[in-house]
Amino acid sequence: MKLLVLNCGSSSLKYQVFNMQDESVLASGRVERIGMEDAILTHEPAGKEKIKQVKQILEHKTAILEVLEVLRSKQAGVIQDFSEISAVGHRIVHGGEDFSASVLITPEVMNTITECIDLAPLHNPANILGIEAARESMPDTPQVAVFDTAFHQTMPKKAFLYPIPMQLYKKYKVRRYGFHGTSHKYVSEKALEILNIPLESSKIISCHIGNGGSVTAILDGKSLDTSMGMTPLEGLMMGTRSGDIDPAAVLYIMNKEEYTLQDINSMLNKHSGLIGISGISSDMREIEEGLLNGNENATLAFDMYEYRIRKYIGAYAAAMNGVDVLIFTAGVGENSPILRKKICENLTYLGVELDSQANEIFSKSARMVSTPNSKVKVLVIPTNEELVIARDTQRIVSS
Ligand code: ADP
Repeated sequence: MKLLVLNCGSSSLKYQVFNMQDESVLASGRVERIGMEDAILTHEPAGKEKIKQVKQILEHKTAILEVLEVLRSKQAGVIQDFSEISAVGHRIVHGGEDFSASVLITPEVMNTITECIDLAPLHNPANILGIEAARESMPDTPQVAVFDTAFHQTMPKKAFLYPIPMQLYKKYKVRRYGFHGTSHKYVSEKALEILNIPLESSKIISCHIGNGGSVTAILDGKSLDTSMGMTPLEGLMMGTRSGDIDPAAVLYIMNKEEYTLQDINSMLNKHSGLIGISGISSDMREIEEGLLNGNENATLAFDMYEYRIRKYIGAYAAAMNGVDVLIFTAGVGENSPILRKKICENLTYLGVELDSQANEIFSKSARMVSTPNSKVKVLVIPTNEELVIARDTQRIVSS
């Protein structure tokens, strides 16, 4: 069975084609700058030369048509005909309270995803465009939705409710939903497999640290609490997002600067976090460079970033009355030994003992970076959200 996995953002589209017989990736790629005259299509077919095309791609539908074209092209193709694609799996950011698992996309499911636009105005519209475009190009191919929020639907009320008047939850569903669920689920299951620990008696803290970041407490295989909230703005300090801040400070700033809702939204989402504090970059690689060169602002940004991750780990160890496994994943989590070191050297009270040599090794494989004696096992696990989407898609269309 060959499957296409699509991850549509507002101006980009990432894709992978899987052969589910052995879960191998036949091709992967991305279209960037959708909506522009010089959009970029990068396509990497397994065993063939990578190609890059710059062309006008004004909408998602055209982007998907371009992808389907290159997938069956002579030079870089991996299929002969669309009919070889048995199903399409879509990453959907917000599923609200209605989806606790992946589902086959029906008109009712589309309605619910559309209703969730309110909760994720930056993400769900692009996801919907992706579904519509794929459906137009391949009308007979089943499509599956895999939600970032689904894994966190196991959170108890005490974790997902905000202490504000209850009617706001009842009326508008204002609550914590959490994100990166596909990633937290994948890495926690992988950790249990590596460590041979049964799901039913495990306390895991999973740190997904990329451009966006979230920490999740996973008790007995289920999400108990997570740092992102109703939107992906809450929680950790991120590349350009503030994370946690006193809501009264937001009101104060709006008043003083005479900000509109759009201004404050943009300030908190795009001009805060690493870039806001350092004034240098939202990219951890550049922050680390600044840190090594003794740049004060970069050092402060790094320290705040690390400190806030560590505080969440402490909070979640308290929430679960302990922790057995600590996982680092995503761009920064997988590739920044210095961040992992700073975090772990201040978690000795929990029983974390980092193996400093193992921590320095760069690898694309899952690996243990704690010493054999460490009470808490620390793992670096490359996330693979696309594979989870492909597996769920296969399961749903096969049943
Ligand atoms: P996204 O949230 O966009 O999926 P990723 O998980 O791909 O993000 O993470 C992207 C971030 O990973 C980059 O902004 C960069 O800061 C960080 N990163 C990538 N490689 C390294 C590295 N070698 N060292 C430190 N940080 C890195």
